[in-house]
Amino acid sequence: MKAKRFLIIPIFLPFEGCEHRCIYCNQRLLHPENIDISPQNIKNKIYQYISTYQGDRNRTEIEVAFYGGSFTALNTERQIQLLSSVNEYFQSKLIDGIRFSTRPDKIQKDLLKTYKKLGVSTIEIGGQIFNDNILNKIKRNHTAKDIRDAVKELKSYGFRTSIHLMFGLPFSSTQDDIFSIEETIKLSPDFVRLHPTLVLKNTELEQLYLKGGYKPLSLDQTIYILRYAIKRFSQSDIKIIRVGLHNDEFLMKPGTIVAGPFHPSLKQLAMKDLD
Ligand code: SF4
Repeated sequence: MKAKRFLIIPIFLPFEGCEHRCIYCNQRLLHPENIDISPQNIKNKIYQYISTYQGDRNRTEIEVAFYGGSFTALNTERQIQLLSSVNEYFQSKLIDGIRFSTRPDKIQKDLLKTYKKLGVSTIEIGGQIFNDNILNKIKRNHTAKDIRDAVKELKSYGFRTSIHLMFGLPFSSTQDDIFSIEETIKLSPDFVRLHPTLVLKNTELEQLYLKGGYKPLSLDQTIYILRYAIKRFSQSDIKIIRVGLHNDEFLMKPGTIVAGPFHPSLKQLAMKDLD
């Protein structure tokens, strides 16, 4: 029997819940259209996706995803409001689940059962790198232990988990990236997202780059680390659901990417001739 495919309906909440600004991040540049999103807008957007979907519903798992902020760091009322706005679609089985991305140090244990009741199936953890010194310098303000603890906790409640990793971060080396891949494998998440670091406009990383304090990975270096990651994650049965930022009109707007190893088909490039 063919594996099910996923249809993700993304709802972007730029910087909602983010107490700190990670030095490489500029969500407003990437998702300007969804600012101040209301429950009614969310319902309309889901309806639009579902009513125009032409694939085989029996073979497709449809999830609504809240991305672009730190979901579990929002106040409880806002979290419940957002999840409830999706709930009617979940109850009527028009969607199969909800997912969101968040910081590893902001998992609220007392809300995990509520998430389950409201249809959350997958929680994606922004880990980026398993090195406390670098996490501190890039202003993540959490530790590698927070990543490990969060994933273990979420798995114990039966959530599917995903870890986001970034390669070529400032102050990091290839060894750091390889170490992070191996640490991720030890946690055995269901999925990973892999993001070679890009320098985006209006970020602290752009300032660092312009002052000569950061050298992005070259495309060759990026392919090297991606090939390692693809091999190791596939040996460990961990699905890679994304490589690189979503290649859309916002990312492609001239001036958005200041520097870094951008390529429209990075994953395909890395997989070429891989045995
Ligand atoms: S926590 Fe995520 S969304 Fe918030 S600033 Fe950092 S990378 Fe951006």
